[in-house]
This record gives sequence, C-alpha cells and structure tokens, in this order.
Amino acid sequence: MNSEKTFRLYNTLTKTVEPVIPNEPEHLRFYSCGPTVYSYAHIGNFRSFLTSDLILRTAQAIGWRTTYVTNITDVGHLTEDDLSDPSGEDRMVKALRSKEGRRFANIWDLARYYANVLIEDWHTLNLREPDVRPRATEHVRQQILAVEKLMANGHAYETSQGVYFSVESFPEYGKLSGNREAAELEQTVRDVVVDPEKRDPRDFALWKKDEKHLMQWYSPWGWGFPGWHIECSVMSMEYLGEQLDLHAGGEDLIFPHHECEIAQSESLTGKKPFARHWVHTRFLQVEGEKMSKRLGNFLTVRSLVLPESEGGKGVDPLALRMTLLSGYYRKPFNFTLKTLKANIRHVTRFREAAAHVAAALVAGAPGEDRLGPRLDALYEAALDAMLDDLNTPEALAKTLEGVRLILGFKANLNEASARSAQAWLDRTNALLGILAPEGEAPAPLAPTADPLAEKVEALLTERQAARKARDFARADAIREELTALGIEVMDTPEGPKWRKMIRV
Ligand code: AMP
Ligand code: ZN
Repeated sequence: MNSEKTFRLYNTLTKTVEPVIPNEPEHLRFYSCGPTVYSYAHIGNFRSFLTSDLILRTAQAIGWRTTYVTNITDVGHLTEDDLSDPSGEDRMVKALRSKEGRRFANIWDLARYYANVLIEDWHTLNLREPDVRPRATEHVRQQILAVEKLMANGHAYETSQGVYFSVESFPEYGKLSGNREAAELEQTVRDVVVDPEKRDPRDFALWKKDEKHLMQWYSPWGWGFPGWHIECSVMSMEYLGEQLDLHAGGEDLIFPHHECEIAQSESLTGKKPFARHWVHTRFLQVEGEKMSKRLGNFLTVRSLVLPESEGGKGVDPLALRMTLLSGYYRKPFNFTLKTLKANIRHVTRFREAAAHVAAALVAGAPGEDRLGPRLDALYEAALDAMLDDLNTPEALAKTLEGVRLILGFKANLNEASARSAQAWLDRTNALLGILAPEGEAPAPLAPTADPLAEKVEALLTERQAARKARDFARADAIREELTALGIEVMDTPEGPKWRKMIRV
C-alpha cells in the first residue's frame, strides 16, 4: 500500500534513529513489556503502553502486517529487580499484605483482579488488543526448560538458594545500557538476595528456591518460582521466534531488565541478535513530580475517567489518550491539569467536526469536493510525522488543522466534501485512535437522551428568556444553579454554549 514509506524509530541499542527493518518484509513482529499486576496500572505505565499501540497503528497504516505480543507479569517480579526499590520482596506478595490487598482471598485472586482491570483500562484508553497477551504463570514450564538449557550450555549455575545467570559467560552484557564496568554494576544491581554462593555480584536470578512462597512450582531444583527477566525472553520467543524485530518498554527497563533479557536470549539461541530495535519511553510525571501514593498524585486511568459518582473525575477517556499522545515519547512528559483541559477542548472540537460531517452527509447538498486534497495532504503529513520516530505533537497539530478546516465550512459543507472529510476522520482515527473508541459507532448525530443535558438545555432556554425580559436576577440565579450542577456556561456570539467542568 504505502510500502515506499520508511518507518524510523530511535534504537536504544545503536543510539540512532534508524529505519525499522522487519526480518520478514512488511511484517512487524514485536514485544512490549506489560505490567506487573500487583496494583492498578497508573497513567505512566499507560504512556509506555501507548507507545507500543502507536507503533502498531503506524505500521498498520503503511500496510504492514503486525504480530504484537505484550505480557502480564503475575509472578516473579521482585522489588530488587528494579533500582528504585531494593527491599527484595516479591511485589505481588507485598501487595497482598498491604491494606488494599486484604480484600483478596489469595495471591491468585489478587493477580486475576488486577489483570482484568488492566485489560478494561486498556480498552478504555482505546489501545488495540495485542495478538497474544501471555501470562508468566502460564509459561512456567517453558521458563524451567530455558533455565535448564542455560545451565547445560554453561551460562547458568545452581546454588543452595537458586539458579543464577552467569554474567561473565556473556561478554556482551552491557551493550544496551552501557553499564559495562564491573564496579558500576556492583553498585547498580543491588545484590539484595544475599547469597554468598553467587559467583559474581552481577549475576541475576533465573530461579528462586522457596518452599514457602505463595506461588510455587516444582522444578529440577525443587519448589520455587522463576525470576522476572526470564519470563520475557521465553514468552517473546515462544510467540515471535528467536529474533524479534522490535522490543519496547519504559526507560527504567533498559537496565537491568532488558540487558538481562538480551543476555539470556542470546545465550539460549547461540548469540543470534535477540531484538533488532529497542524502543524506550521516557517517564511521565504529574505536575512536575514523580507519581507517588504518598504525594497523592498517583493517577490511574479509572481515577480520572470514572464518573464523579463513582469516585472518578469524569474525564473523557479520549481526552486522556490525547493528552498522553501530545508529548513526544522520547522526552519526559509532564502531565498537568492545564494540558488535560486543552485536550478536552480538542476532543470536543473533533466531535463537533464529526457531527458536522455526519449532518452534511444526511443533507446531501450538491457541489464539488472542496476538502479532499487538502485533508489528504494533512493526513499524509500526520502519517509522515508518526513515521519519523513517532512525532505525535506534529501529527496532532496536523490533525487539529484538519478539524479547523472542516469546521470552517460551517453550514455550507456539501456532500462530496463531507465524504472526503468522513474518510479523513476514519483514517485519522485508525492512526491515532482519538476520535471514537474502536469498534463503536462515531458520535451520534443527535445527542442521545441524557437527563443532565436535557436539564441544562431547559435551564439555558429559561435563562435566555429571563435575559430577554431583563430579569437579570433570575438569569444569575440560573447560572448559579448550573454551576452547582458542575456546568460551565460560555456566552458566545452564536448563543450560550456549555460544558461539564472537570475538577481534578
Ligand atoms: P511495571 O508494572 O512496573 O513493570 O511497569 C509496566 C511498564 O510501565 C514498564 O514498561 C515500565 O517501564 C513503564 N512505566 C512505569 N512507570 C512509568 C512512568 N512513570 N512513565 C512511563 N512509563 C512507566
Ligand atoms: Zn519484560
């Protein structure tokens, strides 16, 4: 279709922006590290998942086939595997013991609950479904086989506490993150599993022996559970083959997680390059600060999109998606109320344009297509921006230009132009997913019965009548009543307009 187009992305491995070259031409096979389901995923996690969604959509937009795998980590992710929390406990077990965790019958129940919520939030944010969403607990057998193979070919060894990957056996360790110096590594990989039998402090766990662990399996090394890094090597290769075209995740995964994945995978397959392209999303912060429960700025998808009556803020999920999309994935993103509000306005304009086009299609006014070529050029510019290392700010700017163009036609949009506009809206939505939730009909022509909207409209009509009769006291009282309902009224030359206020 668009095969002359080149898809370029920054590759953490080579530190350059380079063309994505699938092993099988025009078929992108990629893996993206999913969440550990010990709690609700926050909007930072979703920023990383959105990058993968945009890689998927951009590849599809140029006519490539895609095979997209993203996992659910439901066992084995120890806090020590991250640099940020060295306490060395299993994240899932720690969560079960926490205040929120007490409502679950057991750890399996907790994992199932948060995995289900994750998938719900995924759909809420209009992220496309992966081809496979493997779970670590469903691939323990394959992980055990991989560890056995690593032991057999001299890359792993057993101690009384577990099985470790021998970093010394893989001289290229460090090629992704640049962490090559042994002294530096000793500092960064916190060796919290104090195991005096470990041969090298850099060695990381492939299997932990633990007869008391809440999730355990029987293995050649007795009861225990797999380490975190091995799950992604095993599950990605199971569904995508020994060499992936691309592997993605958040910036914190570069080291140690992805570095360890490379070491394991290339040692398993005889040093074939594991993934050609490595893509990492920079972190999201909220109002300039790292998200944390303690600071009260820990934002989950549901804390924003659920209606106020259910403890949320009633934010339109597509406005949230557009906000996340408004920042370039390779720059840290500061999520603020101001950007959220601006994107709520953008999404409203999109809806207005879609309704305008739908009305023009029904009216069927004759005339020549006056929009097609201009909108096509804007779509191509947005696609080119996405192909240029996922330049979402530029793609959004081009898209908003299209919306302005459509709305500029006011009442005189003829049918031929409306057809072009509809085609543009559909293609743009397929690329960016910001106009309508996938699989759902576009915004209805006439608003469906909404008791709040009906009440607001009735009050506004009454307010207009009061103003006309110069009964300003009544008009003001109505405005106050609307404010109490959470409605903001804007008086414009075309008459009063209203929207729901967001209180974030
Ligand atoms: P985790 O559940 O911690 O394994 O994280 C799931 C994904 O979200 C990983 O790719 C992380 O790198 C990513 N991630 C975690 N925190 C953030 C953040 N604040 N901003 C962007 N991505 C994040
Ligand atoms: Zn992973």
